[in-house]
Amino acid sequence: MKVVTTIAEMRKIRASLKPPLGFVPTMGYLHQGHLSLVKKARAENPSLVVSIFVNPTQFGPREDFKQYPHDTEHDLALLEKADIVFMPTADEIYPPAFSSWVGVGKVSERLEGACRPGHFRGVATVVAELFNIVQPTRAYFGQKDAQQAVVIKKIVADLNMNLEVVVLPTVREPDGLAMSSRNSYLNHKQRQAAVVLYQALCLAQKLWSQGEKDAQIIRQQMTNLIQKEPLAKIDYASVADPQTLEELDRVEAGALVSLAVKIGKVRLIDNVVLE
Ligand code: AMP
Repeated sequence: MKVVTTIAEMRKIRASLKPPLGFVPTMGYLHQGHLSLVKKARAENPSLVVSIFVNPTQFGPREDFKQYPHDTEHDLALLEKADIVFMPTADEIYPPAFSSWVGVGKVSERLEGACRPGHFRGVATVVAELFNIVQPTRAYFGQKDAQQAVVIKKIVADLNMNLEVVVLPTVREPDGLAMSSRNSYLNHKQRQAAVVLYQALCLAQKLWSQGEKDAQIIRQQMTNLIQKEPLAKIDYASVADPQTLEELDRVEAGALVSLAVKIGKVRLIDNVVLE
């Protein structure tokens, strides 16, 4: 495994890597969720690049960019099996004269986009840059960030990027909490409270399998459950079309049930697709 920090070196080494090339973009502070992507990418491609870049432009002014957790030494130890770990500086990705942005339209304006204005412009721009630098055959993303996966599939399709986007299931803690680098912000009590997201998603799945077709009832039941947890504050509880992310009236198989909930100051997201 080789650590590369400049775009010039990444391009040079890219030319020598045996195709197909798998790529896993991350913001570091790796956990089993990230590693499930790395493992799959490793298994499906003779070459593997993992990036670690905490992208400043996807954080709002009052968000946790400055506190975002990092442990590069630990991350690199976990990435032994990658060929390249690409860790550019912010100046490499956003040089002083940088002024071009990728806007994605409607799917980026709902849910996370409504709560975090500009978030997906930052995500889409950095991912487009990383794809141009790394030129992967396949790029791997987690269902944990369902809307991000929709946005990335959209830019790849709309801009005719020549790669396949692979989305893999959410990896969870034994009690159901979706693994996230941000879970490290939770204190003991908050960590116990955080399981309410998964409980609400399981409730949605249960109502659906019992025949409930009214999306508003599902949203309301999830809201009621979460409101019983004193440490939790809901940003949204959504039952939406999995492609357009528009809220549904009638639930259909494949609907995306997603939540954003603050546990104290820690904002967590999670989702399930109704089977
Ligand atoms: P991040 O470092 O949070 O930007 O995440 C990097 C990639 O890992 C994204 O594609 C995430 O969706 C994915 N990811 C994060 N948490 C999980 C999880 N619990 N299970 C599966 N994938 C995940």
